[in-house]
Amino acid sequence: MTPTAFMLKLKTRGGGEVDYKKLREEMVKRQLIPRGINDRRVLDAFLRVEREKFVPSSLREDAYKDFPLSIGEGQTISQPYMAALMTQCLNLRGEEKILEIGTGSGYQTAILALLGWQVYSVERIPSLAEKAKKLLKKMGYDNVKIFVGNGTVGLEQYAPYDRILVTAGAKDIPPPLIQQLAEEGIMVIPVGNAYSQELMVVKKKDGKISSKGVERCVFVPLIGQYGWEEKIE
Ligand code: SAH
Repeated sequence: MTPTAFMLKLKTRGGGEVDYKKLREEMVKRQLIPRGINDRRVLDAFLRVEREKFVPSSLREDAYKDFPLSIGEGQTISQPYMAALMTQCLNLRGEEKILEIGTGSGYQTAILALLGWQVYSVERIPSLAEKAKKLLKKMGYDNVKIFVGNGTVGLEQYAPYDRILVTAGAKDIPPPLIQQLAEEGIMVIPVGNAYSQELMVVKKKDGKISSKGVERCVFVPLIGQYGWEEKIE
């Protein structure tokens, strides 16, 4: 076995071996293409990013399954299809400055880093931000900057952004994000109540905003000033 093949085949729970490259190919073939993901660059990125590295080791074998997975701190990594749909809606061509709100595991961040020019990603939970930062650095994604903070106010420092992706469910589109979106920019954001949202694609043209819903979805809540209040338990 070549060293690369060896790296791809890690031991499974049952003691066998898992071919993650094959699982990635199957995910693209069975979960993404049949549901309308057809942007070649998007499909290529999903074939490249090693999703199994972004999930807890106990869930590694489930990394390519057709549902979200827990990543700790009550948060989740999105279902592959939902991540792909959001990415395709952003219509990335390689030169975009992107703001992501909700770094989580960093998986979506890695996809964006492959498809855009520079990614600024904000995560409110310090332990998740730290973990994602280390992992992305180790994997060689050097066009990513991660920040700990409340992403509902955006990230004024590097605004405006050609693209904005929010990966947590908002009750409304936070006004600072509209303001930080560049002219001709696109924002993708789930908007709805705490249990179910509509994935919205928001565009800015001549200073005016237009938006359309593309699909029902369920995300963990976007918490903070222009989002939901944190539950006190
Ligand atoms: N895209 C992520 C999914 C993350 S789940 C992935 O691929 O793994 C949504 C994330 O949004 C959670 O980590 C949550 O902590 C974070 N989040 C919620 N509200 C936020 C806010 N106001 N600012 C930044 N991050 C927020």
